[in-house]
Amino acid sequence: MLGKGYREPMDADQRLDAYRRKRRTELSGEPTGADGPPPRDGQPRFVVQRHDARSLHFDVRLEVDGVLVSWAVPKGPSLNPADKRLAHRTEDHPLDYIDFEGRIGGGYGAGTVIVWDTGTYDNLTTLDGEPVAAADALLKGHIKVLLYGHKLSGAFAVTHTKMGGDEANWMLVKVDDESADRRRRPTATQNESVLTGRTNSDLEAD
Ligand code: MN
Repeated sequence: MLGKGYREPMDADQRLDAYRRKRRTELSGEPTGADGPPPRDGQPRFVVQRHDARSLHFDVRLEVDGVLVSWAVPKGPSLNPADKRLAHRTEDHPLDYIDFEGRIGGGYGAGTVIVWDTGTYDNLTTLDGEPVAAADALLKGHIKVLLYGHKLSGAFAVTHTKMGGDEANWMLVKVDDESADRRRRPTATQNESVLTGRTNSDLEAD
């Protein structure tokens, strides 16, 4: 969780300080992020990881300028525009976390992680009809993205609400477009990894 007075660092390497500080990757088995972001171009990517930790949640991560900007969403994304999902902003993660699945050893985030959904996205954020870069959109506290995933598609908005006076509180909402669906609930019915077909329980049993 990011504390009060948190300011966005600008540099991808600095942005991963909190990630490195919070965990001992040699114990947790998570990517180290030590080499900095691998150079790449093309469409930015997203991942939603199902993380069965102390409490089950879904980690929604967007690739922005060499890091994965991250929120922990206790109830997970919904395709119903009426559902407002609390999204706790968490520390930026290294890009190689995007396909991480496994069992995180004792300590911070201990539990199992699978890639519940992944794909690319378009940043749709505009201000007065002009496109806004993703990093600027995050600084302003509102980003709208069009997801091209396996389970999730269409537009979603993430907005900084600071609900309850907590700087970490954002809200994830499905935009009411043709991909909105008030009945389908993928977080309840599709628990498997889109990469390996495994569930969190499969990893627990390993
Ligand atoms: Mn998590």
